[in-house]
This record gives sequence, structure tokens and C-alpha cells, in this order.
Amino acid sequence: MLNIVLFGPPGAGKGTQSQKLIDKYNLVHLSTGDLLRSEIAAGTELGMKAKSLMDNGILVPDEVVIGMIANKLKEHNDAEGFIFDGFPRTVPQAQGLDKLLLEHDTEISGMLALEVDDEELTKRLLLRGETSGRPDDQNEELIRKRVQEYNTKTAPVADYYAGQSKFFAVDGIGEIDAIFKQLCHYIDALKEKQEK
Ligand code: AMP
Repeated sequence: MLNIVLFGPPGAGKGTQSQKLIDKYNLVHLSTGDLLRSEIAAGTELGMKAKSLMDNGILVPDEVVIGMIANKLKEHNDAEGFIFDGFPRTVPQAQGLDKLLLEHDTEISGMLALEVDDEELTKRLLLRGETSGRPDDQNEELIRKRVQEYNTKTAPVADYYAGQSKFFAVDGIGEIDAIFKQLCHYIDALKEKQEK
């Protein structure tokens, strides 16, 4: 199985690149942000609890997102692999994911990190907010809070995968197709390594 963590701060282009990668590699896309927004839209108890945190740019508790991912892994038992987008966002989430994948006799193949500076991120998110309808993209203060959450709680996840020699960084500024090509280069190398 090919299991990729697509990593990077909010606005780095994870959603855009995930769409292209799932088409090329036939992977299942698991975005915890999308899953949480579906829960909110469906008016579930989980969604209602998550909403106030998300509206304030704060991460939802680890056990909530790990539980959602556990359900999705079971649901897609026959998948050729997964792209994890916006997850794991803390080291305990990364440890939880390793445990879950082990139960499915598989593991993370690699983490690909899209690197974009804070100023560019704010610009991109405010622009996305004009059309996305996402309340957390429409307020500069909230965007800065999300980037701050990323820098303090999420950035250490990169070290977690680097410690397993599974971390690969890609410049997230430039043409979408050029960035995609870079990601594919790393994924093809990971696939080749797995097939050996
Ligand atoms: P995203 O769509 O990935 O930008 O996520 C939007 C919001 O959902 C975040 O600001 C968090 O409040 C919440 N969220 C998404 N994924 C996670 C996660 N893995 N852990 C904790 N909170 C998350």
C-alpha cells in the first residue's frame, strides 16, 4: 500500500495537490478538515462540538480525529492506499496513526511537506475566503491563529517522520503543475523502494 501524509500549513495547497495525486495514484483522500465540515453540515453532536473550536482556529481533540480516521480506514479496507491531508496535526495523532496502520498491516510510506512562508499563506487564505465560504478563511486574525497553531503543535510532526527517514520537503510556491511534478518524483521513488 502507498500511504502518504501530505503536510503543510493551512493554505499550502494540500487540497489542490491531493486531488491531482488521488487521480494519478488511485488513492483514497482522507482530509480531517473535510470530514469535520461534513459532520458540521450533518448537524451531528461531534460536528457541533468541533465547530466552535474550528471557528476559533483551534485544533479539535486528538481522540476525535483519530476516531474519525479509524472509521474511514475500516470503511476503505480494500484501498490501494491513502493520502492523509491535514492529519496528523500533532505528535500523538502521528503515533495514533502508526498504531492504526499497523492493525491494518501497513505503514506510512512517506510524508511530503509543502513549504510556504507565513505572509504568502495569509494572502492565499484571504483570497480563498472570498469564494470558499469557510468562516475560518475570512478573518486575518483567525488565519494567523491557525498558522500559529500549526507552528507550535503541528510543525513537530515533521521531526517525527524525519526520525523515521520518511520526511521530504517540496517548495510550495510556484506553478501548481510544477509542484505536482516534484511530489510525483518523491512518490514514484517511494513506490519503487516498496516494490523492491
Ligand atoms: P483544515 O481544513 O485542514 O484547514 O482544517 C480546518 C480546521 O479543522 C482546523 O483549523 C482545526 O480546527 C480542525 N482540524 C482539521 N484537521 C484536524 C486535525 N488533524 N487535528 C485537529 N484539528 C483538526
